[in-house]
Amino acid sequence: MSYLALYRKYRPQTFDKVVGQEHITKTLENQVKNNKISHAYLFCGTRGTGKTSVAKIFARAINCENPVNGSPCGQCNACKQLSQASNMDVMEIDAASNNRVDEIREIREKVKYPPVVGKYKVYIVDEVHMLTDSAFNALLKTLEEPPAHCVFILATTEVQKLPATILSRCMRFDFKLIEQNVLEEMLKNIFNDSGIKYEDEAVAFIAKEGNGSARDTLSIADMCVSFGNGNVTYDAVLQVLGVNDDYKLCELVQNIIDEDAGAYITNINDLVKDGKSLSMLARDMSIYFRNLMVIKNCKDYKGLIVVRKDIENRMLQQTQSVTNDELTEFLNEFGQVELNLRYSVRPQLLIEIAGLKCMKIKKKI
Ligand SMILES: [Zn+2]
Repeated sequence: MSYLALYRKYRPQTFDKVVGQEHITKTLENQVKNNKISHAYLFCGTRGTGKTSVAKIFARAINCENPVNGSPCGQCNACKQLSQASNMDVMEIDAASNNRVDEIREIREKVKYPPVVGKYKVYIVDEVHMLTDSAFNALLKTLEEPPAHCVFILATTEVQKLPATILSRCMRFDFKLIEQNVLEEMLKNIFNDSGIKYEDEAVAFIAKEGNGSARDTLSIADMCVSFGNGNVTYDAVLQVLGVNDDYKLCELVQNIIDEDAGAYITNINDLVKDGKSLSMLARDMSIYFRNLMVIKNCKDYKGLIVVRKDIENRMLQQTQSVTNDELTEFLNEFGQVELNLRYSVRPQLLIEIAGLKCMKIKKKI
């Protein structure tokens, strides 16, 4: 059986299926409903937040014969034709590889011809900040006098690199990082729909690692689904991502709190034997100390961190034994380790010393 990546299979086809960008999709829906289409749009935001998906939906919506609530119907001739990669009316151009003035001039020549299928020809220019200066100037000329049947959607992850002349001619939309609970809900819907079993903690962890990007979240989910053969468990997610088990981290931190150097060094040694990456360990220790700080200081910490219930209880106890000053120092120590690891020939030693220094800090403060 062929497996279709979740990211491809669940690419949204209508505005209401786009997650976490309601402030944008609502406006675009209304533009379609009221037939008030601009000629140039600028979609800004981090990768994986839905810029290209929204651009493609919009391109079909403005050409659709019977839009439903401002979204493409998916049934009419225009919707069907425009969802095929070979169509001539919705062009996707990657400015990273087509950044020269000749290529933009070629677009300028082509925009004159009317669309084949629907009312509009749509040019989606990805990573538009990669264009050269002369290519920008050529694009600007087109944006100044676009033919009535032409719509440009410029997408970028680095809006600060765009010239003001381009910015001033576009209707700008800023795509937000997608909140973790929104990503979790998206994942659960997809897993339920595909008959994939999951643990809630596994979903929460994948969503956290997705860092606000639907695409990254789904590609991590893909790896975990394949690894667990359709059963996404918390342990499987840890293994796939190569991150450290919270129980192990919890124990290491307890060793530091107890000032038990022997146990700390032995535990580090065990992790190394298991093939754990030391840079991941240093990173995870920093995250763990940060989480302790959040638990210690924020009443509503539950929305800010993801941990298992039993670990959470142990962390609550640990916060009783450390001060904010100590935690700050611990974070400094392990932050330094993260920086120094890549130049070190004895990475294990760096982590061991950092732990011992933390124990010393504990004695001093
Ligand atoms: Zn349609």
